[in-house]
Amino acid sequence: MKMTRTLLKNGTIVNFDRTERADVVIEGEKIVFVGAGYPEENSDVVIDASQKLLFPGGIDVHTHMELPLAGTFSHDTFSSGSLAALHGGTTTIIDFAMQSPGGSLKQALDTWHHKASGQAVCDYSFHLGVVDLHASVLSEIPNLIEREGISSFKAFTAYRDIMLSGPDLKLLMSALSDRGGLLCLHCEDGLPIEKNIKANIAAGKLHPRFHALSRPADLERTAIAHIAKIAKEVGHQPYVVHLSSADGLREIEKIRNEGQFIHAETCPQYLLLDESLYTENALESAKFVLSPPLRPKSHQNDLWRGLKNGLIHVIATDHCPFTLKQKSRGLADFSKIPNGLPGVENRMELMYGKGVLESHLSLNQFVDAIAAAPAKIFGMFPQKGNIGPGSDADIVIFDPTQKQVISAAHHHMNCDYSAYEGMEITGRCEKVFLRGHLVIDKGVSLVKEGFGSFIKRKACANIF
Ligand SMILES: [Zn+2]
Repeated sequence: MKMTRTLLKNGTIVNFDRTERADVVIEGEKIVFVGAGYPEENSDVVIDASQKLLFPGGIDVHTHMELPLAGTFSHDTFSSGSLAALHGGTTTIIDFAMQSPGGSLKQALDTWHHKASGQAVCDYSFHLGVVDLHASVLSEIPNLIEREGISSFKAFTAYRDIMLSGPDLKLLMSALSDRGGLLCLHCEDGLPIEKNIKANIAAGKLHPRFHALSRPADLERTAIAHIAKIAKEVGHQPYVVHLSSADGLREIEKIRNEGQFIHAETCPQYLLLDESLYTENALESAKFVLSPPLRPKSHQNDLWRGLKNGLIHVIATDHCPFTLKQKSRGLADFSKIPNGLPGVENRMELMYGKGVLESHLSLNQFVDAIAAAPAKIFGMFPQKGNIGPGSDADIVIFDPTQKQVISAAHHHMNCDYSAYEGMEITGRCEKVFLRGHLVIDKGVSLVKEGFGSFIKRKACANIF
């Protein structure tokens, strides 16, 4: 059977390391040509991209679809959440498969495969969340990395029931380093946070804003210092998820200046939203209850600078939506509010509109943070995160001039509010290709249910 050949003509192609005006040819699921002057007569479909930017499909390495949390589930399924991702130009997600205490990692992986398979419409992989390092867990790691294509793992320094002790973190990092595995870390210092929560509740301070006040930025810094010390002992180069504060960034800078390598990720909410959203209105505040919490506005410039100067490598979303009804469970006690925000759909457009157009990031830095660096760190490059011959034809045709106003009224996430409601931005994903298939065309979904493929990943790589 002859494969369809699609020519994207004369667009401005942006990769992490270069910008060029050229033609892109897609055949089947792959990019087969990037260069000047491809003959139209050799193509079945020709799309004029001359006024457009072409980005590699976005890769969001931090999502939580259908995550069981606080007695409920995050409100996007793999089906709804991955469709929202595609609408926003993200063609691959890495979600967190969470071990149950006492259970095996393989059980967690099977559970998450079951949730995603036949449902997801974008490509996907999983990090394995390790919450209980019982005797057989370490012996599962070689099989997960070498056979199952799961090369990244996650551990927590917060939440008493699931956090790992220092010695366990050391064992885990050491086992992963031996096999090209990477440990991602939620860095907040859990025990002092629990003390703060208890003290606030005892004092009758129950309003949602006390969630944030229980989790000060300095406890992100101390957790990063803690995990870096362990990583140094075993020669691991870990990955800090959702860095939220200038305090945390300063610690990373210090660690890097001492010659130790540590990867870091931040999220749009820490770059664009701030603690002033924790108002007297309990429901409004509950919308923004997430961990780590939003910080003072003054931290944002530091985080942008961290991205610009290479201390932070990745922008992911930590997409974990709960409806207002779900959030309302904790209006009278902040500790009962399920933590998280919707965001998977907004990342690329927000980071273009607020990051590139407001001069925080160059176009190439933007593509690096949302696509190339995640692909490299998590073992998918150059299959993903790259516009070049041989790569998967995951491409966003982006209109850099179209204006839009973000709103829950027209987003595709299964959540009845938007964290960015009313925000005006310039730039819009116009057409989205996933493995050569046009899946989104001017806001209309053309994708078939379950089209997403599980991506078996290679060993993780450090990008220093
Ligand atoms: Zn998360």
